[in-house]
Amino acid sequence: MSRLFQILILAAVLFYPVFIFAEGTPVDPKIKDAILERLCPQPKEADFFEGEYLLAADARVALTTPNPLSEAEKSQIKKIFRQYWKFVPDIEFGQKPENEKLGNEGYTIDIDSAITVDGRDLTGLKHALKTLRQLGESGRNSCGFVFQRARIKDFASLNFRGMHLCIFPETKLEQLEKYIRLASYYKFNYVVIEPWGVFPYMSHPQFAYADKKIDRDKFKRLINLCYELGITPIPQVSVLGHATQSRVSTAKHAVLANHPEMENVFELYGWSYCMSSPKADKILKDMLAEIYDFYGKPPFFHIGCDEAYDMGTCYSCRKQNITELFASHLAKFNNFVNSLGARAIIWHDMLLDHADARWKGYVALGDAETAKTLEKLPKNIIIADWQYGKQTHFTTPKFFKDSGHDVIVCPWDVDNGILSLAKTASDDNLFGFLQTTWHHLYGRKNFMSFFFISSNAAWNAGKPLKKRYSVRKDLPILRHLWQVGSDIKDIPYEANGNSEKQISTSL
Ligand SMILES: [Zn+2]
Repeated sequence: MSRLFQILILAAVLFYPVFIFAEGTPVDPKIKDAILERLCPQPKEADFFEGEYLLAADARVALTTPNPLSEAEKSQIKKIFRQYWKFVPDIEFGQKPENEKLGNEGYTIDIDSAITVDGRDLTGLKHALKTLRQLGESGRNSCGFVFQRARIKDFASLNFRGMHLCIFPETKLEQLEKYIRLASYYKFNYVVIEPWGVFPYMSHPQFAYADKKIDRDKFKRLINLCYELGITPIPQVSVLGHATQSRVSTAKHAVLANHPEMENVFELYGWSYCMSSPKADKILKDMLAEIYDFYGKPPFFHIGCDEAYDMGTCYSCRKQNITELFASHLAKFNNFVNSLGARAIIWHDMLLDHADARWKGYVALGDAETAKTLEKLPKNIIIADWQYGKQTHFTTPKFFKDSGHDVIVCPWDVDNGILSLAKTASDDNLFGFLQTTWHHLYGRKNFMSFFFISSNAAWNAGKPLKKRYSVRKDLPILRHLWQVGSDIKDIPYEANGNSEKQISTSL
């Protein structure tokens, strides 16, 4: 007997239980692909084996965390089971100190003769249940859910994985709820929610369209839902450009259309707030404080400041040095946001000189003077670098990081850009990733880009999805959309699916 063979026999004897454990017969690769494509984001490691497991009301499920869960946390888990599968099996909660090593928000799932989940923490357990919801198939001849035997290991690559959502006057709150639920289902952990002329301010009721204010109680319920789903809501109020709270191309103005007496709060065209106006200063601070409280005092506050085309142009502002005026405006509102208890996030674009050759092909809307503001900014301001191009690696995030700031990369609707910005965030060890959606949150292409591709990119540091199985690559999101739709009580037709209507034009 050769020595090598002897060693192999010895190893087989010594590690027999391990070999048995890992030696389930792997499923056909096509079946593996078909199961993987229904998972979003895709797990870091997943193996599927021949044989199925039935999860029914009398099944036993073992869940472990490094530290014991409180009774309230156990109740949260049971509530999730009831929501996902309409019953609560026999759950055994256990402790495993070694789960500390599972990675950020990590978990493992073992489906064999029972389901066992090891979580890094409560969040890891909840992520595992989301993955299980995507894996399970409704039993054909039984009242339960059938799972392919599997072993899964997973964790988050980026810590801050956010989605930016706008509430336009056209947005239904059930649609917003669907976006929030889908983002959470896809393991995003932050959502920036920016009302566009619709927030019912009590401090300054003029700062919304009178006939388009959203229902305060219903919106508060959605804010509470965010926390329940583990996705922290971040308020956004721009303190400079976009002061119309309307898309610039529509020439609508949420305030001045009905309140021309407030003209002195804005620059001449009404697009930016006036940085020299004491009235603007007071109104903005009142609104920031009010909405921050409404959103439950989260750790971040987005104060916008993008596309401030007419900033500093009134007779009072234009006498001043624009670099100093802009820098002191940002420092002032950064201080104010800090005093509320949050870190400020700002869009990056006015901090880059559009004429600077380094930024050719990048979003850069400032000039040489506004760009000088960057070096004067308080370093605790987080810079949200929105780049909508197709670069394979983006250089602006590193530029802002080198200037001493935490940086969040923000893609839009270009799939390659989504992937490479997520990879840039990982490669350059940046603060996070924020998917923007704007007024394009409709249709299968955008839903796939904004939710499916984006969440996978943020979770897996820009690694593309593995091979897709179906001819129609958007089929998996169809299931996820009706799943989260079914979580919304009596979801209206228009809020279901990925588009408000099926027919928008009639001939
Ligand atoms: Zn001014």
